[in-house]
Amino acid sequence: MRSIKGQTILVAGGAGFLGSHLCDALIADGARVICLDNFVTGRKQNLRKLEREPRFELVVFDVIDPIPPQLKRAGLRAIYNLACAASPPHYQSDPEHTMLSSVMGTRNLLLLAENTGARFQLASTSEVYGDPLVHPQRESYWGNVNPTGPRACYDEGKRAAEALTFDFARAGRANICVARIFNTYGPRMRADDGRVVSNVITQALAGDDITIYGDGRQTRSFCYVSDLIDGLSRLMRYEGKLPGPVNLGNPAELTVADFVNRVLALTQSPSRVANRPLPVDDPTRRRPDISLASELLNWTPRVSLEAGLKMTIRWFAEEAGKQRQRLPEPGLEVGSPPI
Ligand code: UDP
Repeated sequence: MRSIKGQTILVAGGAGFLGSHLCDALIADGARVICLDNFVTGRKQNLRKLEREPRFELVVFDVIDPIPPQLKRAGLRAIYNLACAASPPHYQSDPEHTMLSSVMGTRNLLLLAENTGARFQLASTSEVYGDPLVHPQRESYWGNVNPTGPRACYDEGKRAAEALTFDFARAGRANICVARIFNTYGPRMRADDGRVVSNVITQALAGDDITIYGDGRQTRSFCYVSDLIDGLSRLMRYEGKLPGPVNLGNPAELTVADFVNRVLALTQSPSRVANRPLPVDDPTRRRPDISLASELLNWTPRVSLEAGLKMTIRWFAEEAGKQRQRLPEPGLEVGSPPI
């Protein structure tokens, strides 16, 4: 793979969970990184490592808006588009913004790619397969998406973004690649993210009830963040002809109930399980077929669920410790004068 040393690379959504890990990796590989984020779900603390890095620049910006003209003159070689809320509670809290982030954001960044000649990567999602009727999911599967349900703002937004990206490619307007990202976890997930990994770890560490939606027999396949970032980076650097979108995820599938048991065992938590209603249109099964990524990109996930969970649990425990230190001492009101 070619080196990216000295290249200028744009990461839209660079303060988010995946985006910030990508920025770290690109800086470590010698690139100059311009990060765009509107901080709706991204966080400044995710970029703490890069604060004093001269090759890193943060621009507070919403990709729904027309791209600032100075970015056209920044000498961009690559544009990663990860700008979109991605957890169901977050993306459903402002569905209009979610849809527009995907569609308008992708269009604006594709226009920038057309204008600059930079290669464009869309961070798409396994949600384009909806509640899949084919298992595991290959890229050739067209999906089973409810176009009017509460997940549609995200699923259909990403499907439209994919369509637009391939239209730009067909018309010879941009050099593109599309990653379909399956469930990913690791440090820097938000504790209030609402996803199963962050919820269950936070609940287990606090000794609170573990919320399992439905009977817990639905499945997911969880990929550790460093593996996913490696996949995105390989896909961006791939120089051959791609047949279409490429799945990136870890094919190790397990039920939500099994996942909860793993976390309970690793945290030795006394938490009990509390079942809650299954959200509307919650996919029943999900597992990526990653033959294409392994064949074209020589990529395969390396971090086991056990190892990845240990790192993630340690991170959440440290974050919870920091939170406690920031809380006022018992008996002291916030803002009260020092005694
Ligand atoms: N889930 C759960 N408890 C939670 C959060 C989620 O049982 O506290 C379930 C959810 O219904 C889904 C699975 O875990 O079946 C994965 O949900 P997540 O929101 O993490 O991701 P996605 O549904 O987008 O794959």
